[in-house]
Amino acid sequence: MKLFKADFHIHTVLSPCGSLEMSPLGIIESAVKQGLDIIGITDHNTTHQCKEVVLVGEKKGITVLCGAEVTTREEVHCLTFFENFEKLEAFQKYLDEHLPNVPNDVDHFGHQVWVNEEEEILGQEDRLLISAIDQSIEEVERKVKSLDGLFIPAHVDKLRNSLYSQLGFMPFDLQPDAIGMSPNAKIDKELEKHPELNKLQLIRSSDAHQPDLIGSHYTVLELEKASFEEVKMALHKLNGRNVKRLV
Ligand SMILES: [Zn+2]
Ligand SMILES: [Zn+2]
Repeated sequence: MKLFKADFHIHTVLSPCGSLEMSPLGIIESAVKQGLDIIGITDHNTTHQCKEVVLVGEKKGITVLCGAEVTTREEVHCLTFFENFEKLEAFQKYLDEHLPNVPNDVDHFGHQVWVNEEEEILGQEDRLLISAIDQSIEEVERKVKSLDGLFIPAHVDKLRNSLYSQLGFMPFDLQPDAIGMSPNAKIDKELEKHPELNKLQLIRSSDAHQPDLIGSHYTVLELEKASFEEVKMALHKLNGRNVKRLV
């Protein structure tokens, strides 16, 4: 077993708030510089940029988990990850069906484009990606689980767009694979405030929207190798895999 550094929450140029430097190459170069082994690509309500980051990551030894940061109907942000491109595509279809038809305000948010390694534009999303989709947190969880994905409420300590800020409590039937903490979270205080978190696996990530923040916060996992399956086992403490430390 070896230790791996994972930053699970990274936005790309495709997110309305993501810097133009967050191209596949820009992200992977920063991840290498920061000594990360695993990164999660989590744009708002879209998975379109994931594949190109995977391709660049493969060349530079970075394992890329593909997913999205979904905004549920209640405006709760949840990280989601999928094992392969087939399942990712099925989830993209679900997002396409449930993202409201509100056009992107290009003057305000810029173009929502995804690009390849050479930073050539491959596609554009015309609907505003930071809208909430029309699905509840339970419905999103159900969809993710039906695709064997990972479901992780994001930055639950934050006062906006978090499970506790929007719902006020942890729904009793929710079964997240892990719980996301923001860079600024005082974890001891959060555990005190929300005792149910003691039974759940916590992770911490950067939520980077610009390259210099990638890897500013991360989670150390004990795995056999860097892969989706191994990460899933670690989040559930299976077969000796484990989460060692939140940085
Ligand atoms: Zn968020
Ligand atoms: Zn985010």
